[in-house]
Amino acid sequence: MSTSLQNYATPCPTDSGASTRPCILCGKCLDVCPLFTATGREELSPRGKSFLIRQALEEGNLHDPVAASKLLGLCLGCGRCADGCPQGRDLPELLREVKAVHPGWRAWVWRAWIQQARHIWPFLGRYAGLLPDRLAAGSLDVARAMVHFPARARGSGCFQRISGEVVLLGDAVLFPGCTARFARPWWVANAERMLGAAENRLKSFPDWQCCGFTVAQAGLPDLNAEMQSRNVALWRELGRPTLLTICATCTTALRGYTKANDLFQDDRERLAWEAAVQPLSGLVDPKDFRAAGIGDVFYHRPCHAPTPDPDAAFLQNVFGTRLVENESACCGMGGVMQLSAPGLSSQVAARYWSLVPEQSELIVTTGCSGCVVQLAATAPRSTVVAHWLELFEG
Ligand code: SF4
Ligand code: SF4
Repeated sequence: MSTSLQNYATPCPTDSGASTRPCILCGKCLDVCPLFTATGREELSPRGKSFLIRQALEEGNLHDPVAASKLLGLCLGCGRCADGCPQGRDLPELLREVKAVHPGWRAWVWRAWIQQARHIWPFLGRYAGLLPDRLAAGSLDVARAMVHFPARARGSGCFQRISGEVVLLGDAVLFPGCTARFARPWWVANAERMLGAAENRLKSFPDWQCCGFTVAQAGLPDLNAEMQSRNVALWRELGRPTLLTICATCTTALRGYTKANDLFQDDRERLAWEAAVQPLSGLVDPKDFRAAGIGDVFYHRPCHAPTPDPDAAFLQNVFGTRLVENESACCGMGGVMQLSAPGLSSQVAARYWSLVPEQSELIVTTGCSGCVVQLAATAPRSTVVAHWLELFEG
């Protein structure tokens, strides 16, 4: 083993103490890392990035802008490596810390992108949609995909209500997420229709802030804390109702609020929040719905989906054997990585599509806003990508 690799196997101190257990070079993180599997480049793997961080620490320049910039943007934040690491190393968290020290221009752009979403997203989406394909292709694909209404062929895979009504035991409010609010508002309408008469117990949703997931990933902990605090305050003002989510990443991010210090008044309120965050798919009874149309529906499991995945369970119950899943692969969205390494994001997306069966008019569905947008932006022409709510035909 080289000297540097021996050093690499020592603990890696960070400001917060995250990921301090040493890397033992086992390589278990290699095959789960979508950047490594798409590119074969060891320096992009979690093991490789840990090495770069270690090296920067040894050289005393982890906080040096040049060294830090080598690390920024080299991670999709999918969390797959942290899930399987025998040492419990949480590389995405470690990189978030590095980014927080050196936010740079990308963090500034991401801050504006999220904070001004209500103005920027619809405008950019419509503008990109007006441009001819040859001009908009590439850089504006994601913007176009954000506001795109998926046009499914008549008779293709969908589901309908056949009976029953959702019973809400108390008041509820939708937490639709930024994409549904500012780019695809029909998700909100479909969610309300799925609730049927229970919609009466649904409060109008307030001016929620972003759930904060990609903001934290971009290295903006202060903005993330501000958004969390505002969302909890709004929930409190509403009387602490059930929070119905329709985005897998929002669900995970909102549940993660319980780890924050000083966000809740006491443990009782913390537990109330934990119980309040409920994915819509877990609340409705699949027996009240039936699959319609013909053909397979391909399910994409988001990296940040809760475990077990309530969207997958609901769709499996509704579509039965028509719901197809294959190797769980990352779509390559990566939040702020779209700014720093769009080429890598495209490579991960290309690998994703190489694993999906070729089939004309294939419907690919998922429950994460970011995945919907990324998959819609990169899908082959004959493939329809839709949030599972878009398959609901009242
Ligand atoms: S799985 Fe963890 S311990 Fe093993 S090589 Fe990757 S980072 Fe190191
Ligand atoms: S979080 Fe995902 S993309 Fe980043 S190093 Fe880990 S497995 Fe790779």
